[in-house]
Amino acid sequence: MSEDPSPQPTSLVDSHCHIDLLKDPAGEVKRAESAATHTVAVTNAPSVFFHTSDLCDGLGYVHAALGLHPELVHSHGNELTRFKELLHQTTFVGEVGIDFVTSDQALRRRQCEVFQEIVDACESEGGKILTVHSRRAATQVLDCLGRVTVSTVILHWFSGSRRELTRAIEAGCYFSANPAMLTSQSGLALIAAMPRERVLTETDGPFVKFGNRPCGPADVAAAVRALANAWNTSEVEASRIVRENFARILGMHDVKSEA
Ligand code: MN
Repeated sequence: MSEDPSPQPTSLVDSHCHIDLLKDPAGEVKRAESAATHTVAVTNAPSVFFHTSDLCDGLGYVHAALGLHPELVHSHGNELTRFKELLHQTTFVGEVGIDFVTSDQALRRRQCEVFQEIVDACESEGGKILTVHSRRAATQVLDCLGRVTVSTVILHWFSGSRRELTRAIEAGCYFSANPAMLTSQSGLALIAAMPRERVLTETDGPFVKFGNRPCGPADVAAAVRALANAWNTSEVEASRIVRENFARILGMHDVKSEA
């Protein structure tokens, strides 16, 4: 066979995007699917999961994730039961985690309890792919993950200390980097210390923006560009590494993928 002179556009990975919070969720899902962008469409509460899961039903690239965002635990913590009831519907879980920006001790404790219950439920369902928030709480997140054996954890927008990073690497965690993280000195220093076979890309749209415009999955190309720069390699190579990393995760959980 002769080599194709015009290489196919390579498919990218957006492992953490709030598609349901973008202006046109149905259009964003459709565009990500036709661009073959592997996308984890995270949600923030079980009561809104169905919107995204309906949009992603039967798709090969865009996956709906069931979530309970740590910053919503104070208002939506009572949806934990609903979370467990819906968990069998998907392999993808997020956004979940712990956020210690709050100084309210009772709320911090509650977030840890809820996250621990989520982790334990994922484990007892045979293992899930989790995209996890850990702002100012990487140690607490890693404490909860101590018992994980069959789930895969992606620490999204990781901003912990070097010691916490080492611990996360030893625990087998993956890391997803977005364009904002890749333009901060502290983010770049962390990325340089991460094994390449554990790094993924994400947009975290609409919370990451280009100017005033919220990022969508199509903007993950910017993360790939910045990652290639940080790794001192080509975009094609950076994209290949990330795609392989994501494919490895999907393979571990028997997720059928078009790639
Ligand atoms: Mn997020």
